Amino acid sequence: MNNENLSQDVVTTNDEPPPSTEEPASKTQASSIPAAIPQPRTNPKWNDWRWQIRNRIRTFNDLIEFFPSLRANTGISRVAEKYPMAITPYYASLIKSTDLSDPVYQMAVPQGQELFAPDFLHADPLEEEEDMPVPGLVHRYRDRALLMATTMCSMYCRHCTRKRVAGYQESCIGVPQLEAITNYLRAHPEIKDVIISGGDPLTMSTSLLERILAAVRSVTSVDIIRLGTRVPVVLPQRITTELTTMLSKYHPVWINTHFNHPNEITPEAIAACAKLANAGLPIGNQTVLLRGINDSPQVMEELCRGLVKMRVRPYYLFQCDLVRGVEHFRTPISRGIEIMEYLRGRLSGLAIPTYVVDTPHGGGKIPVLPNYIISSSPSHTVLRNFEGMIVNYPEPMEPMPRVPPSTSARSGSHGVWEVAAGHSSSITPSGTHRQKRRAARKLQRGEAAQTHPEFNLLLESLMSEGGG
Ligand code: SF4
Repeated sequence: MNNENLSQDVVTTNDEPPPSTEEPASKTQASSIPAAIPQPRTNPKWNDWRWQIRNRIRTFNDLIEFFPSLRANTGISRVAEKYPMAITPYYASLIKSTDLSDPVYQMAVPQGQELFAPDFLHADPLEEEEDMPVPGLVHRYRDRALLMATTMCSMYCRHCTRKRVAGYQESCIGVPQLEAITNYLRAHPEIKDVIISGGDPLTMSTSLLERILAAVRSVTSVDIIRLGTRVPVVLPQRITTELTTMLSKYHPVWINTHFNHPNEITPEAIAACAKLANAGLPIGNQTVLLRGINDSPQVMEELCRGLVKMRVRPYYLFQCDLVRGVEHFRTPISRGIEIMEYLRGRLSGLAIPTYVVDTPHGGGKIPVLPNYIISSSPSHTVLRNFEGMIVNYPEPMEPMPRVPPSTSARSGSHGVWEVAAGHSSSITPSGTHRQKRRAARKLQRGEAAQTHPEFNLLLESLMSEGGG
C-alpha cells in the first residue's frame, strides 16, 4: 500500500470544445470497416484474473491491436489522456462491433464527447469531498459511510461518477489512512453500514482487501459491510474461491455490483455471481441509465430479468449524475419515469429497481416514480394501476391517532418526516431575501439581543442592499 490521498481532483478545466455535430469517427468508419473481434480466449491464462489485469488495454496502440478498424480514430488518445482508459481482454471480447450501436463498446472505449464540459457538469457533482471527515471516507447519511479503498478499477467505465479519481494514480489507501478511518468509525457508533468502494476494491489483492475488512469489522458498532464492485461484470475471473472464502469470514457482507446491459450477462458473469451467492453474499445491482445503451424499456426489462435469474437483485436505477465528461450519456428524467412505468406490471417487484436521482450538492438519493395517486381525502384514496385501471381505496373508518413525538425519533436526522410527525412545524431554507428582511425588521423592533454584533452587521448589509 502507499499513502496517496484519494481525494486529489485532477480534472479541473472545462475549456474543451463542444461535441461535434457530426457522427463520431468511430461510428462512420465502423459501418465500412468490419471490427476485428479479439480472439485471445484461447490464451491458457485467460481465466487468471491477474493476467487479465496485466493485459488490460491501456493505450491507443493496445486498442488497435484488438480493433484495427479503430486505427483512424486518433481522437481516442486525446480523450484517454484526460480520462484514463483500461479495458480487460475479457470485457473487450464482449464488443461485437466497434461503433456506437454496441453498448459494451460505448461503455469501454473513450469518445470525443467526453471532452464536452458545460458549466453545470462538475468533477465531483455529489460533493463527496465536502462530506469527507477523513481522507478516503465519505460520511453523508447518518448511519452509513463510504470507504474509498483504491483508485484502481479493472475497467474505466466511460460514464463513471468518480472520473475525478478513478485511474489517475492506481493506488490503495495506506495504513495510516486506514487507521484514521477506523478511528473515525469508532468515534461514530451511529455508523452501522460501511460500503467499501473506490475505484474497485476487488482489484486489490485478497490479503490487502482482508486487512481493510478486518479493520472495519473490528469496529463493533458496524453491523454490515458492503463491497461496491464492477468486477463480476468486467473481470468475473476475479471471483475465486480464495476470495469468497475470505469474504465470508466477515459476514454479514453484501455485494453491490453494476450491470448496465443484458450483453454483460455472460456465462462467466453468471458463474461469478453464483460463486458469490453460494458463499452467502447477497448481491444487489446498481444500473446507471445511459443514453443509447439501456434507455429503452425493453432493454431494461431484459436486464432485470437476467439479473434475478442469476440471484442478483436489481437495487437501484440511477439517473446519470451531472459529472464532467458524461453529458452524451445523460437522458431526461422523464425517460427513467417512462421505463419505470413500463416495468411495473410486467416484472415482479423483486425485479424492479428503485429509480433514483442522486442530487447535486450532496442532497442524497431521491426516489422518482410515476404518480399512482389520482386523488385523496381523509375518507379515501383513488389510485391507478399500470393498466390505467382506477380504483378507490376506502380509508379506515376510525381515524388514526397521531404518533406522539418521541425522544428517540428526534435523535435522527431532521427531515420531512419530522415535520409530518409534528416534531417541527416547518423546514425553511436559510439565507433567503425574505428571511434577511424579517431578521432586519426584528432588529429594528429591538427584538434582537444587542449583544449579537452579527445582527448589526447583517442589518448594515441589508440596508446597503436596499433590503428591509
Ligand atoms: S468500476 Fe465503478 S469506479 Fe471504476 S470506473 Fe467503473 S463505475 Fe467508475
